[in-house]
Amino acid sequence: MNTGAFKNKVWLATPTMHGDELRYVQQAYDTNWMSTVGENINEVERIAAEQAEMKYAVGLSCCTAALHLAVRHAGETLYGKSAVSHGALEGKRVFCSDMTFDATLNPVVYEGGIPVFIDTEAASWNMDPVALEKAFEMYPDVKLVVSAELYGFPGRMDLIKKICEKHGALLIEDAAEAMGATIHGRKCGSFGDYSAISYNGNKIITGSAGGCLLTNDLAVANKVRKWSTQARENAPWYQHEEVGYNYRMSNVIAGIVRGQYPYLQEHIAQKKAIYERYREGFKDLPVQMNPITDGTEPNYWLSAMIIDKEYMCKQVRDDSEALYIPEKGKTCPTEILETLASYNAEGRPIWKPMHMQPLYRAHEFVTCEGSGRCRTNAYIAGGYVDVGADIFDRGLCLPSDNKMTVEEQSKVIEIVRSCFN
Ligand SMILES: *Cc1c(COP(=O)(O)O)cnc(C)c1O
Repeated sequence: MNTGAFKNKVWLATPTMHGDELRYVQQAYDTNWMSTVGENINEVERIAAEQAEMKYAVGLSCCTAALHLAVRHAGETLYGKSAVSHGALEGKRVFCSDMTFDATLNPVVYEGGIPVFIDTEAASWNMDPVALEKAFEMYPDVKLVVSAELYGFPGRMDLIKKICEKHGALLIEDAAEAMGATIHGRKCGSFGDYSAISYNGNKIITGSAGGCLLTNDLAVANKVRKWSTQARENAPWYQHEEVGYNYRMSNVIAGIVRGQYPYLQEHIAQKKAIYERYREGFKDLPVQMNPITDGTEPNYWLSAMIIDKEYMCKQVRDDSEALYIPEKGKTCPTEILETLASYNAEGRPIWKPMHMQPLYRAHEFVTCEGSGRCRTNAYIAGGYVDVGADIFDRGLCLPSDNKMTVEEQSKVIEIVRSCFN
């Protein structure tokens, strides 16, 4: 550890508690609603729907569960009901975000679907609408799109929704990272035919875990709620006609979430201040912060930056390690991340694109490099040539914890700046 290191670790993003959470947990305890039924869950569902401007929310154990149930419901709606849940999408292609956390699209695979990855647009770091259009041209039969907002900085989900409508496809919006962000005044989480939000421990508000599925369709909400509680039929005994899951939110977890919601705007304001201090601190460096797309208001969940090409030192990564060659006046994500770590501060590489993952490398991938010159395979001799791979190569997430002090952040800024010396 560096001698000038932070005494207390500076984190990427950790839970920020306020006290109200305990009150609702205590209430669950005192009334003995310690299971998956109770007032906290009802309240979380009410508030989540209201906050996202959707009619219904279903409280679940996590966002991944919400995405799974959305994918299954979409699969059954599009292709008919299968005898068992696994395989609602058997053998069907689904267009998916590429630069995202793998939980966005793993549920497509749970249901037997085949993710086809859509490249990222450089201007927004989110799904490229041009590549999505190209993908529909190539595969007009595709009827489902799963698209995520990255780091709380939305791209053009409104346009992606329009493209889906034009092609008669359903949209699942993974708003796990984007709660509270807006696009032309409309909340993220309200664009999908199904949307999912997360209360995972590192998100903008948290229940330690948990998530909700959002929908405007009461029948969807009822079906998903039923599936999440082992798909019990309405009968005096355990009666089953469909495969179910144990995916319901706990009323204890819901207490924490309920206590967090009133602080969502405060957390967004803190995250925004962090982003703006970074932008100011780096304004004379050859870097760009996460882009803010016209007409959007991010929730600023994670501040990230990308280093201009000419200022990148040599860096190579294989499936588990990264190496770089230090060079005067230049730097690279690996050097910055290692330097931050030596000062006891946590950064993180950009989410590694799905088409570069060993798990999904063999899948189809559509990239248009922002030029309309589209191709379906990004790997050519010598490396990847696509927007996602480039952002992964040159970008990193900065410490973005709400509780980081201005002094701590100033020091983080100095540490990053020193890497360019
Ligand atoms: C965190 C996250 C998820 C998963 O959320 P859980 O609640 O942990 O299941 C899904 N998608 C994205 C984009 C995420 O960041």
